[in-house]
Amino acid sequence: MSKRKQPAKRKLLPYIIGAGLIAGAGIFALIRDEAPQENPAAAVEKSEPKIPQQYETACKLSINDVKNGKISPQYYIDELFECLPDVQQARKKGMLAGFIYNPTNEEIEAMIGQFLSPDERTDDIEPFINEIVKSSKGDIHAYLFPGFMYLFGAKKPVYVGFRDSIFYSESGTGIANDADVESIVKHEIQHVDDIYHGINLGGVELSYETISPDTFRADFFENLLELRAEYKQLSEFFKDVSAEKRKSMISAYRFGNTAGHYNAHWQFLAGYPATEMEERVRNAQFQEFSGILPEDEGNSFFLNVDLFGIHKRPFFRKSL
Ligand SMILES: [Zn+2]
Repeated sequence: MSKRKQPAKRKLLPYIIGAGLIAGAGIFALIRDEAPQENPAAAVEKSEPKIPQQYETACKLSINDVKNGKISPQYYIDELFECLPDVQQARKKGMLAGFIYNPTNEEIEAMIGQFLSPDERTDDIEPFINEIVKSSKGDIHAYLFPGFMYLFGAKKPVYVGFRDSIFYSESGTGIANDADVESIVKHEIQHVDDIYHGINLGGVELSYETISPDTFRADFFENLLELRAEYKQLSEFFKDVSAEKRKSMISAYRFGNTAGHYNAHWQFLAGYPATEMEERVRNAQFQEFSGILPEDEGNSFFLNVDLFGIHKRPFFRKSL
């Protein structure tokens, strides 16, 4: 009997690698003193709150131009692909194949053809495309394409796709400003990096070739990926606050939401009945991320922040 249970056919990831991906996600409000903060930086900055400056970005277009109907979503996404520094770096490293928005069937076929030969196609691709690429329901704003499990650590560039919800959210959980967009792009680029290179933690090289369902479980993996992407968003935010650049003025909603998901993924991993491999990975990851240490209190949580000279303990209330 083979201990290794890798499928004969290449399989899709059993989950979506997306942004804002938690079933039944609540709203996590950042609370400090008595009143909710309008400005998330004020809760964590070193000095007294100042008047927020203009959001600085290398991009000329604004998401407001899309919301106002001045430019098309496609035009905006195309510009993002050219102007954001994180995107440029990912492109230079060969990790990122492109940005996609509302792809046609022909475009989807062409992209799949880059990863699978016709006889490798399995029936589970259609539901994946319908659910992830074509759907505009839910709070998922972005996703990786194609998201095949066998690509993990295979050093093949993948696409980042964007959904309508990033521009037009009905639930009020959409994107408030350009900094929110940039933060979500950073989240996705972290996924791209992890999928492209694999993950090296605690002396363990994680990739499709080195893990199996016996050693490294899918739900553990999913929560680890999300934790890493959310850490990227939060640490970049704190870095900008520390430098008083004030450029990463993500909305209070986005900050609270990201912190809430970070806490949830951290607690999931902390309570996980880990295998030996998972235990090593978890210890190393928690050590590496100890500068943003969540402390769960049931209906609320703290983030103990010790990063870039910031020593703060923002408090968040969970609500549904
Ligand atoms: Zn994600």
